[in-house]
Amino acid sequence: MIHDIEPRIFNNSFKNKKAESRDLFLSYDGDKVLVREDKDKLWYPSFSDFEKQYPELINTAQFLFTIDTINYYLVEEKGLDTVDGWTYVTTGRFRTEIKYWRSFAGAVGWQLNRWYENHKFCSRCGKTLKRSEKERMLYCESCGFQVYPTISPCVIVAVHDGDRLLLTKYAGRAYTNYALIAGFAEIGESLEQTVLREVKEEVGLKVKNLKFYKSQPWPFTDTLLAGFYAELDGDDTITLQEDELSLGIWVKREDIPPAKLNISLTSEMMEAFRTGTVEL
Ligand SMILES: [Zn+2]
Repeated sequence: MIHDIEPRIFNNSFKNKKAESRDLFLSYDGDKVLVREDKDKLWYPSFSDFEKQYPELINTAQFLFTIDTINYYLVEEKGLDTVDGWTYVTTGRFRTEIKYWRSFAGAVGWQLNRWYENHKFCSRCGKTLKRSEKERMLYCESCGFQVYPTISPCVIVAVHDGDRLLLTKYAGRAYTNYALIAGFAEIGESLEQTVLREVKEEVGLKVKNLKFYKSQPWPFTDTLLAGFYAELDGDDTITLQEDELSLGIWVKREDIPPAKLNISLTSEMMEAFRTGTVEL
């Protein structure tokens, strides 16, 4: 999965540290990220690459995280593709990068960039928010309100019945591959209750024998995914929730398409069922 970057180590401990010229930085413009594409790999800029044309970048950069000994910073400046060799590409590119640590760094940076961009002012009193020097937190000097990055829990459910797996396709989304049942936990709900509710809502089925598989941070949508396998309980007739799904079908183990890259928990769970490597 995209966050499985061993032997590299992702360290998100906050540091109140000024950037140095060898440090890397991330620059976003909406859903695009500044990169150099070379030999089918993604590269991120270092401040030294930009110090001639943008000497001030390094002074206002925000520390994000470290992967091994490489520090990643965030810059607010856009339009940096005026420097030769650098270009803004869609963050969808992260789904095809074979070196997961590169796409994971870019995706987590994108999540933090959205958080900083979306929290300029106090939502309680309207004053400008300040950045804490001690932790990854924004605060209001006027009323004391504090804001931490938002992470929403979400379930991914692989509904199975013997050697069949329930595969779906989302309605009205750019992502057209097979998916599993997915949904956010609502207020006052456990993850297990979310599983039962989402399966009922999206395909009209009852499930039992829930088995937690793995979790995954999914920076693209500010979510923390919890993957469950769940056994069909009773009638197998699928009733689609059509505003969410365009397709919901039972697919036999041998007919499940093999995964190309296991970036997501969804594809790893489909692949584990297809190859019989998960005990149910
Ligand atoms: Zn305030």
